[in-house]
Amino acid sequence: MRYIISGAAGFIGSHLCDRLIEAGHEVVALDNLITGHRENIAHLEHRRGFTFRVQDVSEPFQVEGQVDRVMHLASLASPVDYLAHPIETLESGSTATRRMLEIARQHDANFLLTSTSECYGDPLEHPQAETYWGNVNPVGLRSCYDESKRYAEALTMAYHRTFGVRTNIARIFNTYGPRMALNDGRVVPAFIDQALRGQSLTVFGDGSQTRSFCYVSDLVEGLLRLSESEERYPVNLGNPAEITIREFADKIRERFDNSVGIDYKPLPADDPKLRRPDIGKAKRLLGWEPKVPLAEGLTLTIEYFRKKARQESGEPLDVTVP
Ligand code: UDP
Repeated sequence: MRYIISGAAGFIGSHLCDRLIEAGHEVVALDNLITGHRENIAHLEHRRGFTFRVQDVSEPFQVEGQVDRVMHLASLASPVDYLAHPIETLESGSTATRRMLEIARQHDANFLLTSTSECYGDPLEHPQAETYWGNVNPVGLRSCYDESKRYAEALTMAYHRTFGVRTNIARIFNTYGPRMALNDGRVVPAFIDQALRGQSLTVFGDGSQTRSFCYVSDLVEGLLRLSESEERYPVNLGNPAEITIREFADKIRERFDNSVGIDYKPLPADDPKLRRPDIGKAKRLLGWEPKVPLAEGLTLTIEYFRKKARQESGEPLDVTVP
């Protein structure tokens, strides 16, 4: 099949491209490289079936030839990035989603939206099931991300209802793994980077807030299964193993013989206090659940960041993942 992937040079997008090329599909990979990195897909650029195009999908564009699947992953997905680029973030949920939906409509292709657990905001229901409508501050700092994804979901449903486009919506919870950007401010790369530099880990607030971390290969498997399903309503994809940020900091410190300390910093505005996906729907409909435990995923991720650190000191980077 021929796939159009936006955000292809990003963290999740690049792993998705790996899987599709390995399975023998054709991929037209699009990215405007605001937060994506060409080195994430450099190893694919000479593979048969893979084409990369620098493209901001919020600008008008066309795709020639047959298209079977359109997957919209382009987004500024880390709080640091979307707070730095709020207008672009709103564009990727709105105009860019519409342009990707139009490509799917014109080519009679399936469409998959990568939405987010941020649709639940600072949730009053725990764990979060797809039936929960969320608790989002519509004018807070995070609203550029939360509300653009909520709009993107509404637009996707409208294209399905109005034009019959075959759509899927994935609500992705915290995901981690190799190729996360070291400087994107998210807790996994931030803590690993700090530990590698021998610096204290910056825990925001008292560290009692929780998250549930899903390894990227599990997430990609979930996206592919969802894209083959006929479920039009959102489906949570994430790992239900919940951990406080303080406990997570300790897990990282153990990997470095407890040689680094903890530096408490103020909690960012509207930072969700609890987050854990209810994945009952994904299990039932897709037969999917995460397989990679945190300990194993962290080993692979820390190894990647060690390689990155060596690259900074002059060695070439190998981004292929075992
Ligand atoms: N966090 C932290 N220290 C950091 C970065 C993040 O304590 O250096 C916290 C952040 O406040 C949040 C959690 O870790 O409660 C996850 O943050 P991240 O930015 O990874 O993603 P989010 O789930 O907020 O989108």
